Amino acid sequence: MRTSLKVFTWFKIPVYIHWSFVLIFLYIFWMSSDQPMGLMDYFWQTLTIVALFACVLLHEFGHSLMARRFGVETQDIILTPIGGIARLERMPEKPKQELLVAIAGPAVNVVIAILLFLVCKFIFFAGEVEWWYFKSSVQDMLSLKTGSGDAEIILEDSGLNLPTWMFILPLLMVINITMVLFNMIPAFPMDGGRVLRALLAMRFGRVKATKWAAYLGQFAAAAFVVYGLYSNQFMLALIGFFVFNTARQEDQMVRTDSVLNNYTAKEIARTQFTKLLGNDWMQSPIELYTRTLERNFLVFDFTGQIIGYLDEKSILAAAAKKELSVSVTQYAQSPVEIVQEGESLRYIYYLITTAKKAIVGVVNAEMELVGVIDSTSLENFLQLNKS
Ligand SMILES: [Zn+2]
Repeated sequence: MRTSLKVFTWFKIPVYIHWSFVLIFLYIFWMSSDQPMGLMDYFWQTLTIVALFACVLLHEFGHSLMARRFGVETQDIILTPIGGIARLERMPEKPKQELLVAIAGPAVNVVIAILLFLVCKFIFFAGEVEWWYFKSSVQDMLSLKTGSGDAEIILEDSGLNLPTWMFILPLLMVINITMVLFNMIPAFPMDGGRVLRALLAMRFGRVKATKWAAYLGQFAAAAFVVYGLYSNQFMLALIGFFVFNTARQEDQMVRTDSVLNNYTAKEIARTQFTKLLGNDWMQSPIELYTRTLERNFLVFDFTGQIIGYLDEKSILAAAAKKELSVSVTQYAQSPVEIVQEGESLRYIYYLITTAKKAIVGVVNAEMELVGVIDSTSLENFLQLNKS
C-alpha cells in the first residue's frame, strides 16, 4: 500500500492516511491566500480538521469493533479526504449482524453529537445571549446559511466576543449530525443502504434484498445527480454519480456470490486439456495458444507428476522475446493449487481472482487429476449463469 501512510494501530487495526490528504491542507492555504491569516488561525483550522477526521475515524472503528464481535476482523482503516473506509475481511452475511455492523458507525456519531451538545449546553448556557447564539448558529449551519444567518446578526448586535474554540464546538456537533444524516441515505455504499438491505434480507433473502436495495439506491443517486445539476451543486451531482456506480457493483457482486456458492469445481472443470512436459520447448504452448483456445497449462514431469503451471502472460512474454526453444520450466510457476471436485466455486474464484493463480487442478476422491479450471472457464461459467 504505497499510496497511504500508516499513522498508528489502535485495537490491533492499522490506520492509514491516503496521500491525497495533503490536498486538504493545500486547499486551506489556497482558500486563505486572499485574506491574511495569523498563526493561530492556521492552528485552529488544522485542529478543526484533525477533530473532524477523528470523528470519521471513530465512526469506522464503530463498524470494525462491532464486526469483531461477530468474528470478522478488519484489515485496515484508510482515511481519505472524502471519508474513511474500514476494510472488513468480509461482510457478515446474517442480516441481523450486517444491520448491527452498518448501524454501529452512525451510532458513534450520534453519541459524539450528544456529548458535544451537553458540553455546549454547559459552556454556552452561562449567558442568555451565548445560548441564543448557539441555537441560531446550529440552525444556520443545518440550513446551510453560514455567514449570512441569524447567528451572525446576533454576534454583531450584541457585540459578543467569543473565543475561537467556541465556534468550533457547535461546528463539530453539526458535522456529526450531518454525517449521520448523510450515512443513513438508504443507498449503497452508504451505511443506510446496508441497513436497508439487511432489513429486506430478513424477509426476502440476500440476493433479492440486494437487488431491491440497489434499485432504490440507484434511484436515490439519480435524484441526487438531477437535483445537483439543477441547483448548480456539482459536488452533490458527483456524489450521486459515485453512489450510482457503487450500487450497481454491489448488486453484481452479491449475484456472483450466490452463483459461486451454489456450484462446485466438478461442474466447471475442463476435462480435455493439454499436459505440457517440463522439458518441452516454449514453442509447443505458443503453438497451442495460436491453434486452440487453451490459455493456461499445467506442467508435468516425465513420471506424470505436476511440477508447475504456465500462464497466458508467460506464453505471451516468451513469444514476444522469440524464445521458442527455451524449456517450459524456465517460464513455469509453482506451486500449483489442487482442489477437490466438491470444492465450492467461491474458493476457486478466490484462488483465481485474488490469489492470482492462473489455473487450478481438480482431483477426485482418489486424488486423480480429472480436470482444470482457469480464468476463462470461470468467466464463461459466470456469463452463462448471470441471474
Ligand atoms: Zn459508515
